[in-house]
Amino acid sequence: MKLVLRGHHLLCLKGFQGYGYSEDFVKNMIEVNAKRKSENTIISLTDSPDDICKACPNLNNDLCENQTQNKRIVEMDRKVLKKLNSSEDFNALELFEKIDTIFNTKESVSKICFNCSWHDKCLFYQNL
Ligand code: SF4
Repeated sequence: MKLVLRGHHLLCLKGFQGYGYSEDFVKNMIEVNAKRKSENTIISLTDSPDDICKACPNLNNDLCENQTQNKRIVEMDRKVLKKLNSSEDFNALELFEKIDTIFNTKESVSKICFNCSWHDKCLFYQNL
């Protein structure tokens, strides 16, 4: 199995507990979250629309909402990708082990997650 994920979604997946932008979005997110927990899954990283965005009602002509919001989102992606060798493909379990090691305090994600509206629903952020 193969997944394409944008950088900041690696953190979102860790915090996902069933909430999202629409029924289709949540259904897809559940599937992606199950795939990323399989040792047979390979993950490619991106700072563009990915396998989560494709079911999102906010995706608009390949932009997240609009130019301004999309710029913020791409910046979040790049901050995560900077910590990884994003040109290579990863085994899903190994990638999320890396994520656990790199992003393990509120300080380590403060410049990435500070503006997110899902803080109170995000298990990842709450458990840091
Ligand atoms: S389109 Fe935007 S809000 Fe929707 S999943 Fe992608 S990054 Fe998140």
